[in-house]
Amino acid sequence: MSCMEQYDVVVIGGGPGGYPAALRAAQHGLSVALVEERYLGGECTNYACIPTKALLSITKKNIGIKPSEAYEFTKSVVGRVRSGIKLLLKKRGVAIHKGRAKIESTNIVSIDGEVRVKCSKGIIIATGTSPISIPGINVDGEYIHNNRTIIDALRERSSSINSILVVGGGPAGLEYAEIFSRLGAEVIVVEILDRILPMMDREASSIVSRYLKKLGVRIYTSTSIKSVERINGKIRTRIGGERVEEVDMILLSVGRRPNTSNLGLESVGVRLDEKGYIITNSRLQTSVPSIYAVGDVTGQPLLAHKAIHQGLIAADNLAGRSRLYRNDIVPSVVYTGIEVAQVGFSLSSAREKGYDAREAKIRLGAVPLAVVEGVEYGLVKIIYDASTKRVLGATLVMPHASELISLISLAILKHLTLRELSEVIYQHPTFSEAIGEASLVGLGEPLHYIR
Ligand SMILES: Cc1cc2nc3c(=O)[nH]c(=O)nc-3n(C[C@H](O)[C@H](O)[C@H](O)COP(=O)(O)OP(=O)(O)OC[C@H]3O[C@@H](n4cnc5c(N)ncnc54)[C@H](O)[C@@H]3O)c2cc1C
Repeated sequence: MSCMEQYDVVVIGGGPGGYPAALRAAQHGLSVALVEERYLGGECTNYACIPTKALLSITKKNIGIKPSEAYEFTKSVVGRVRSGIKLLLKKRGVAIHKGRAKIESTNIVSIDGEVRVKCSKGIIIATGTSPISIPGINVDGEYIHNNRTIIDALRERSSSINSILVVGGGPAGLEYAEIFSRLGAEVIVVEILDRILPMMDREASSIVSRYLKKLGVRIYTSTSIKSVERINGKIRTRIGGERVEEVDMILLSVGRRPNTSNLGLESVGVRLDEKGYIITNSRLQTSVPSIYAVGDVTGQPLLAHKAIHQGLIAADNLAGRSRLYRNDIVPSVVYTGIEVAQVGFSLSSAREKGYDAREAKIRLGAVPLAVVEGVEYGLVKIIYDASTKRVLGATLVMPHASELISLISLAILKHLTLRELSEVIYQHPTFSEAIGEASLVGLGEPLHYIR
């Protein structure tokens, strides 16, 4: 063991949970060490949010682009974002340690079993999750991929991705379905449940399904992958009952498991739930009060903006503030060509909570920009309380839904009503006008919308 370095806070993991926590703790004047075993930016920057958005962007803008060119662009984007994070951490005085962290006691962390760092105020765990596989189907990084291997496949097999089977119809699987379709591959999606995007609004899921089918993607729901076999440089796979497909590659996008093993959690008494995620209170403290946990390792929803938000709250609390985390106002987004964004309650979840909830819904065709841009499908649904007219949630299916959902998040956070949402001056012509119109529908005063 080398000599012990002392800090106020040690952050384990340099992803969207860990690095903002480190930056915020440093802003509070605390001395901070961040330990990362692989790459700064975590899963999100290196293998998930950023590369998928880079690939969606470049393949949409450049019809006929080669996979290797899309790869080069993506790698350069990832590199720039990662360097930016490193620079920020250095400028704020955060000590970056490369290696695998293990909690030895409530105030001591070892790195690669050697260097030890001591922290006087606390530890923030932000170790994220890893992709899971399907029994009998092993990721080989050549024919069978997960989100960590698929990007390099664009470089290595750039001339031969004619077809791909995506297993899993969640947001990540569908984003990749669109990317490969735009790269010219024949794409098949299989989803074990009865619809794609099973966690999202049913109508939103059918709009995305229609959109992807129009791109040429074949989607099989209530279907699972039964077997895989390598034959002459291809993968022969049996899906559902007897359907046999031959594809160049398979991408597994079937779920995640928390990175909690060999972290020393049991020895210090940090409790896990039945799925292995770390249990926290709303201050984001674990069962050991000086140890906090943020991001994917704390369980659903597994989203980068949740991780960032939690990282800031944990750092603020460690610095002596008193902030509480709310899991019910985390927006979810699907970044396919027609975007879906959802926040707060759905109609059924609001009713289950005891609200006399209603839904104000319009089709996107009610706003002129949808006509200008030739957007065929889309909708806005706002969930509100019938008596107070308070906004409780929304689903947006439209271009830029990922940006516009923040307006609804703000409305929920500030307890705004449909009337207040309708009084915003929405620029014309924009898709945001659909939010104003849906508010008017809920108030019984629709202007441009006739059922
Ligand atoms: C294909 C795909 C696309 C996605 N797109 C989006 C999106 O568009 N928007 C969105 O919000 N979310 C998206 N996500 C989810 C997002 O990637 C995660 O929610 C986010 O990365 C979680 O951040 P985190 O900091 O909790 O964990 P991670 O990003 O997983 O970071 C954890 C870090 O901890 C490190 N680590 C783990 N154990 C140790 C240890 N013992 N010692 C040292 N370091 C350790 C890991 O190396 C890793 O760098 C996507 C996910 C996938 C798979």
